[in-house]
Amino acid sequence: MRPEDILALTPAGVCCKRGGFHIDPTRPVERALITHAHSDHARAGHGAVLATQETLDLMRIRYGENFAGSTQAIGYGESVALNETTVTFHPAGHVLGSAQIAVEACGLKIVASGDYKDVPDPTCAPFELVRCDVFITEATFALPVFRHGDPSGEIGKLLHSVALFPDRAHLVGAYSLGKAQRVIALLRKAGYDSPIYLHGAMEAITRYYASRNIVLGILRPVRGTDKAELAGAITLCPPSALNELWARRFPDPVNAFASGWMRVRARARQQGVALPLVISDHADWDGITRTVAATGAGEIWVTHGQEDALVHWCGTRGLQARPLDIVGYGDEDEGGGADDDGGDA
Ligand SMILES: [Zn+2]
Ligand SMILES: [Zn+2]
Repeated sequence: MRPEDILALTPAGVCCKRGGFHIDPTRPVERALITHAHSDHARAGHGAVLATQETLDLMRIRYGENFAGSTQAIGYGESVALNETTVTFHPAGHVLGSAQIAVEACGLKIVASGDYKDVPDPTCAPFELVRCDVFITEATFALPVFRHGDPSGEIGKLLHSVALFPDRAHLVGAYSLGKAQRVIALLRKAGYDSPIYLHGAMEAITRYYASRNIVLGILRPVRGTDKAELAGAITLCPPSALNELWARRFPDPVNAFASGWMRVRARARQQGVALPLVISDHADWDGITRTVAATGAGEIWVTHGQEDALVHWCGTRGLQARPLDIVGYGDEDEGGGADDDGGDA
């Protein structure tokens, strides 16, 4: 039995024929196992969906009540038998509800990690290391230049700017699912207790996070708020809104952007970001390589991102590695570049 006999790449994405399911399929399928609710991994229109309760709830918020024929919730650490396979969900530390999916058959264990990060995040369960034979990893920031550092230092920069310019609005571009809520939670942890304003596109998801006991403090919609009230305040919006008409209502705004891509100064400049904040929901180079090594997997499959560098690194460590070149991942959150948040907002 080879790993390829358990999981294989099809036009719809990674497929487990003997289990009768796909993982994060990019086209509608009969049965989908979903790692997390970002739109490049979680699409509407599948027959049956197996995912964590949070992922199902977030999909419902984004796509509406009828996003799938049927749904089944699974908890972290829980296993389900699907035909001749057993699948188990483990925390991925990426966004609320995000999971790695372990597939076991014929004595082989393959872990599809979806997107993940192995550093603390107050808005989701911490990444769990799962030992396996084959580890399927993303490679969004798999270049040695990407070292994200401590996000609280970046939050400190934002608060310093707010203190320095009390008459200016501070607009923080952040992806609507995960990043926005993490930035808010980090601001609260840093002791910032003023109301935080939200772009309409992130209200429902942020309310959902708050309903899951994540401390986000006082939140207000930008809609209907006095211009004067926004001076000196922090507002979160989808990155694309920073350069839209919407942003013109703000008094003399300082534009910030929270993303792993902000490590690349040219990228920040090009997008007119005065205050780049290096905060990422993906593992950086150290995180990816340390995780790959710790899984004990002898074989690494790379789904999307900077495949070449990671495949090369695996070679130097005696690990077999191959890029899957999946088309359709990386359209949302940081995977797709820094210009939009998936067209959902
Ligand atoms: Zn993601
Ligand atoms: Zn992704």
